[in-house]
Formats: sequence, structure tokens, C-alpha cells
Amino acid sequence: MSAPESGTPDDDLHAHVLRQLRRTGIESLAEPPSPEQFRALLRMVSHKYAESDRDGYLNDRAWEISSAEMTELYSQLEERSATELASERDRLRTVLNTTTTGLCLIDSQRLIREMNAAAAKYLSVGLGDTYGMAIVDILWGERADEHRLPFPEDLRDAIVANRLWVEDFIQFVDAEGEQCTVSVLYSPVDAFRSGGGVLAIQDHTRQSLAEANLEWRARHDQLTGLLNRAEFSRLVDESLSSGDPGSMSALMFLDLDRFKNVNDTFGHDAGDSVLIEAADRLQRSLSDSDFVCRFGGDEFVIFVGRVAGRVDAQRLATRIIQLLREPFNVFGASMVITASIGMTISEEDITASEMLRDADIALYQAKNAGRDRVSAFGSQLRSNVRERVQMERSLRTAVSRGELTVAYQPLVRAHDLSLFGFEALARWQEGDRIVPPATFIAIAEEAGFIAELGEVVLAHSLELIREFGPPEDAPVLAINVSGLQISRPGFSRRFLRQTDRAGVPGTQLCVELTEQALLTDTAVITELNILKDAGVAVALDDFGTGWSSLSLLQQFPLDRVKVDRSFVQPMITNSQDAAIVAAIIRLCRTLGLEVVAEGVEERGQLDLLRSLGCDLIQGYYTGRPMVADKALRWAEGRAVPSQRVLAADRDVLR
Ligand code: C2E
Ligand code: CA
Ligand code: CA
Repeated sequence: MSAPESGTPDDDLHAHVLRQLRRTGIESLAEPPSPEQFRALLRMVSHKYAESDRDGYLNDRAWEISSAEMTELYSQLEERSATELASERDRLRTVLNTTTTGLCLIDSQRLIREMNAAAAKYLSVGLGDTYGMAIVDILWGERADEHRLPFPEDLRDAIVANRLWVEDFIQFVDAEGEQCTVSVLYSPVDAFRSGGGVLAIQDHTRQSLAEANLEWRARHDQLTGLLNRAEFSRLVDESLSSGDPGSMSALMFLDLDRFKNVNDTFGHDAGDSVLIEAADRLQRSLSDSDFVCRFGGDEFVIFVGRVAGRVDAQRLATRIIQLLREPFNVFGASMVITASIGMTISEEDITASEMLRDADIALYQAKNAGRDRVSAFGSQLRSNVRERVQMERSLRTAVSRGELTVAYQPLVRAHDLSLFGFEALARWQEGDRIVPPATFIAIAEEAGFIAELGEVVLAHSLELIREFGPPEDAPVLAINVSGLQISRPGFSRRFLRQTDRAGVPGTQLCVELTEQALLTDTAVITELNILKDAGVAVALDDFGTGWSSLSLLQQFPLDRVKVDRSFVQPMITNSQDAAIVAAIIRLCRTLGLEVVAEGVEERGQLDLLRSLGCDLIQGYYTGRPMVADKALRWAEGRAVPSQRVLAADRDVLR
């Protein structure tokens, strides 16, 4: 069979059909196919139809599925982006609302599109109330006077023209009367396709407050809120230089008496509350031209801008003292606290620091005179001060040049008047006058050279001891030591170094300390124990004049007690004093302490003391303080308790 030619009846058939015809063996449609060939052809065509049907179904199904999915996905997507956007916006608003800067976003039409809480507050509107409203209507409209701050007119021009506008530190008082400071800024931004801008209001009030607070702290005392020293002095100087030439002002230095006791007994919180209350009372007692400062600790200084005169100032000071004397309430307990005031009146050309100095001197006098009183600075005090300064200078020179001398007063045994020892007593002759130790010891303590003075006295005393020869023949030397000396750490070591260098054993020395000295410092016991370990004896001086006497006797490592002469001297005429001395002697015996009676001036006193069992006697009756040479000669006749001594006793009597 040959290939069909063109123009044959097969031409219009699909290639697939032609292929199927050929597969069934039909070469050309020019000849009719056999029934078998025709049936095979139909089967093939029907198969193809079935195939095409299935493909179409699959296709349709595919479309169906994917479009449903797409719809679903699309709606899901839509939903998500809407909530995400919303939460995104919420987050942004939260952030915006936490800032104290007021922010307002407007679009190109000057309509409000976003506003945070701070801005809403400045404009006195609800958050969101203004959405879509014209900013110009909000800022300058009907309700403009309800805003916290007035917005300047030229800001309106800037917003309308959409140009930058800034104004720093706008001050105003808001509805609550609060002083406020803000900065306002308008800036064009491209937040919207067609432009727009942001209005920002920055609050500086807090910052200004913080700055003001810092400034306040620099000028005031934190605890009481009173002025501090520096600010007070500045204000006083200012007031002094601006006052009328004829006017008079007063400055008062005030110190709470024994305030340390409050702290020690009730604790620092109690102390603080007393200081706060005291400050409050002082403040309330003053007028507008006066001011008060906490000078430090329990010291206050008051400046009274105008006084009629000295008497007037004195009266005011007395009133202040009375005001403070009212009981203080400390944690439910009532406490009375007194105060001392040193006062001075202004003079021409005087400065704050000069007034402070004078008032301080007067205060010192008020305290010395027994506290709880006013003392005024005057010409007497001024010359006293000058004299004291002069005296301090020459005492210092005398000490450093070794010009101090020492007098030695004998201590004898009561039963036979044999020599026990000497007390070293410092002597100072300034020019042609003899200054009593009570005066110059106090000066040396205050001026800070009591230690040097003590070393001079000890050096003289050690020299005398060596004159006596071997220790067994030498008397005990008693050295006075003040509270300031013993409370200085290292006192005992320095003392022992000096005695070692002189080759004098500790057993030949005794230190005399007053009750006051023992109570200066807790470290005193440590110092005393160092001395005692080296054999130095410890005597309690002026016993009976203090107030916590009895407990001291057990508390401190003592060897000997010196009964103050204020008990000894009147004991013959006053039975009460005699009873006190008797009790002291009994007590000391029980505690194993030796007793020395000071200031024995008469035979009668000696007899009485002997009968009471007193161990040692010191006083003009048995021997006055004397220079070293005389002390040596005096000792020669007393070295051995014998008939000779009793004869000497008779000599003394004569
Ligand atoms: P004090 O320790 O009580 O010394 C005894 C004082 O009584 C001495 O006075 C002495 O002269 C005096 N006196 C002694 N016997 C009698 C008497 O029978 N009748 C009277 N009316 N008085 C008598 P002075 O020498 O004026 O010393 C006064 C105070 O100065 C001493 O009192 C002592 O506390 C202190 N002092 C003296 N020298 C020193 C020293 O070197 N260092 C220290 N820290 N204080 C010293
Ligand atoms: Ca003494
Ligand atoms: Ca004494």
C-alpha cells in the first residue's frame, strides 16, 4: 500500500487519528476498513476520550483546590496584617505615652493624626478626642485658655507655613499654681506622603526641680533644713554690709548642753530628732530679717538682723534658751535639754567670721560659768582673750625652752609621818608673776601642748629621783596626768620610754588621774594596764568631787585614792564631812586601796585621819610644795621612821 497523496480524503484528519488508523492497519480511507479494523479504531478513540475526561477532571480539581486555598490564605493574611498593624500601633502609642515630651503628629492638611498622653495633658483634652481635628483650632481655638500653657502666636504661622519653629525655656504658672518650664518645637516631617509635621513640648520642670534641689542642698543642712555654715556667713556678710550705718544686729552662738549624753544614752536617731525639733523651735522664734544655721553637731548660730541694743539682744537670747528648755519628746519619753548661748553685737566694719569668733568666745565663757545661760562678748572678754592669747604664746615658749619648774610636795605615812613620796607640781613664772597651774594647765590643754608640758615635768621628776640614789632609798614620785594626756594613744609607751631612758624603775612612780580623766576614753584602761605592768602605781585624784565615784573604784586598776581637800579641810568642824571621809577610808580598805588625805593643814585633821586608819597624808601641815634642792634636804630628815621623825613632827607643830 502506497503513502496517501495530497488532496486525498485523509488530509483533514488529526495526526493522532491517522496514527490510530495506521495502528489498526487501515492504510487509507479510500478503501472502507474491515469490521475488525473499524471496531479496533472505535476502541482506541473511546479510550482517548476517557483519558481526556480524566485530565479535565484533574485540572478542574486542581483549580478548585488552589483557588480555595488562596482565598483562605488571603483572608488569613489579611486578618493577620490588620491585627499586627494594630498592635504595632498600640506599641508605638504606649511608647509615646510613656514619654513626658508632648507629641502631636499632623498631616499635610494640619489635621491631628496622632497625639500622646503628655500632649493631651498640655492641651487639656482627652486622649484621642482630637483625632482628625485641625491643630490650629485646638491650639488657638475657643478652649485655648484651658491649656496648661499659652502657645505663642508665631508658632501658628510656622505651623501654617510648615516650617521649623523652636522656643526654649518658656516659663509659666499652670492651673495648680505650679511653676513650669517647657521647650516647644514644631518641625515639618515626611510622615505622610504629602508632608506634615510634629509638634513637641518638652517639660523641663523636673529637671529644673532637680537643679533647684541640688542648689538647695548646697546651701542647707540636710538633717534640719537650716542654712549651712557657708550660706549663713554669706547672708550675714550681705546683711552687715547692706544694713543702715546706725542699725545694730546680734549674732548668737548656741550649743545644746550635754547633747552627747542624748546620743550616747538614747542613740543617734533620738539625737537627730532632738536636733530637728530644736532647729524648728529656733526657726519659729525668729523674724524675717533673722536667720539661723546649723553650724555643726549640736551647734547653731542665729543672726538677728535688727536689735534695739544689747539689752534687747540679751532678752531675745534668754527667750531662746527658755524655748529650748521646754521638754523634748524623744520616742515617747520627755527630756529636758538646756542650752548655752554666746552672743555678740555688730560693730562697724565687722564681718561674719569676726562676729562668729567673738560669739564663740562668749559661748565658751557661758559654758565655763555652768552652762544653761547667755554670755555676751564685751570689752572685758576681749581683753581676756587678748591676754589669754599672749599667755598661750609665752607658755608655749616656756615649755619648749624648759623654763617650767616643778615643785615637790611630800606625801608622808599617817602613822609615823615617814616620807612616802613627793607629788610633782608644775610651776610657771611669767615675767614677775606666778601663774597658777589651774590656769596654765588648761591653756596647755586647749592649745594642744599638754603632752610636751607633761614630759618636762616628768623629766624634772626623774632627775630628782636619781638624786636620791638607789631605788630602795628613793621616794615615790607622783605625776599628775590630765585626761587629754591619757586619752592620747601611746601615752603610756612614751611615758615608759622616758623613765627607761632615765634608768628609773616604774615602781618609783605613780600617776595621778582625776575621775574626769578616767572617763574621757574607753582606751584609758588599756593605757593604765600598760603602766601597771611596768610597776607604775595609779592614784585617783580629787576623789569625791566627781559624781560616779564608787563604780570607778572597781572599774579601773587603781592602787590609791586621794580624798579631795574639800572633804578633809572641814572634817573637824563638820561631822558630815568627817563621816564622808570615814566612809571613803572604810570603802577603800575593803577594796584593798591605799588612801591619801589631801590638804591636811592642822594637827587635828591629822589625828582624826590617823584614827580613821588613813594611810598617807599630804598638806601644808606636813610639807608645802618645794623646789628640788629643798625637797632633797627635807627628805634627809624623814627617810627613816624613828624618834627623829616624831621630833620633826613636833617641829612642824611649833
Ligand atoms: P592637785 O593634783 O590636787 O594638786 C594638789 C594641789 O593642792 C596643789 O595645788 C597643791 O599646792 C595644793 N595643796 C597641797 N597641800 C595643800 C594644803 O594643805 N592646803 C591647800 N589649800 N592646798 C594644798 P597646785 O600646785 O596649785 O596645783 C593645782 C592643780 O594643778 C593640781 O591639783 C593638779 O591637778 C594640777 N597640776 C599641777 N601640776 C601638774 C602637772 O604637772 N600636770 C598636770 N596635768 N596637772 C598638774
Ligand atoms: Ca594631784
Ligand atoms: Ca588632788
